[in-house]
Amino acid sequence: MISISQFSLLCLRCAAYGLIASIIWLNTSAYAKAEEKASVSKTSPPKQVENIYDSRKILYDKMSVLTNIPWYRLAAIDQYERTMTKAHPKDRKHPERLTGIFMSEPAWTGWLNPDPKDVNPKSIEIFAGYGRDGSGDGIADANNDVDVLYSMASHLLKYGYADDDFYIALWDYYQNSRAVQRIQQFAKIYQTFDRLDLFEHAFPLPIGNSYAYHDTWGSARGWGGNRIHEGTDLFAYYGLPVRSTCYGIIEVKGWNPFGGWRIGIRDLENRYHYYAHLSGYNKSINIGDVVTPGQTIGWVGSSGYGKPGTQGKFPPHLHYGIYRDRGLVEWSFDPYPLLRQWEIEERKRLKKGKTVPSS
Ligand SMILES: [Zn+2]
Repeated sequence: MISISQFSLLCLRCAAYGLIASIIWLNTSAYAKAEEKASVSKTSPPKQVENIYDSRKILYDKMSVLTNIPWYRLAAIDQYERTMTKAHPKDRKHPERLTGIFMSEPAWTGWLNPDPKDVNPKSIEIFAGYGRDGSGDGIADANNDVDVLYSMASHLLKYGYADDDFYIALWDYYQNSRAVQRIQQFAKIYQTFDRLDLFEHAFPLPIGNSYAYHDTWGSARGWGGNRIHEGTDLFAYYGLPVRSTCYGIIEVKGWNPFGGWRIGIRDLENRYHYYAHLSGYNKSINIGDVVTPGQTIGWVGSSGYGKPGTQGKFPPHLHYGIYRDRGLVEWSFDPYPLLRQWEIEERKRLKKGKTVPSS
């Protein structure tokens, strides 16, 4: 039970937050304008995209000043939620906005709240809904960027600031260890680079060397029973460097009977990049390390199809697969079109004298 003095203390704190919030968020219309700009069209020049990152960073930074929660934790949750909306667009409908966090009506207003459209922060709090008013207009609006982010920040604030507190807060909110792991991974990537625009890519093999690949996704393959080929094989000579295609974090490293020596990298779009049959790894890279596009992670080989160390059962090649995390399961999709795209983009960069994305 909460005592009256505790309650009034809480109220004072809420009022103080509200006051600070209203001071800090006076110019929320600027966010609306940025949002309008950001959602113009898919063919907008890159500058528009930068505006989204800039606008989001301002939002996270301000929320961080307000709550003391590091910006990269807020950014990580927001980005994870965005990837979930991409995977489940029908279940997570919300208007175009800067934030990606989606809360269902009952989560926002409280499961026992008789008014499923409640926007009153006081009654929402009584019914233990997540919805809060961060913008200081007296309304807890599930589609207002500031309110949405402040609501999530308020949830985190109940637990504290330590890494363990963050872990428990995420676990209590998502009840899903995969979600917790993803968000922690994203947070580490953002913290490492201290910026949001981390979506450039590199081709997995160094351009200008001899290699060959074509679209073999979905074809049957023999070893280990009936499986379909979930990736693209890039044939090349032993020892050619294999490079990360993305900004990401090493999630898996080790032997697998099918993939041999393999490495798995998670990117900020919640895609798992799988590099198999390597002859060896870059020894300085370990699970939990952050990598950049173009960074060497290992070398082309022919390991796999047996116990650890087995190699030479097929010609050397890089098996490259991409899987998209849908929350509870992961689905493979054909990486071939992306490989083609990244190869073309990297050739263009090389012509301009750049070797890796602007890091
Ligand atoms: Zn393959």
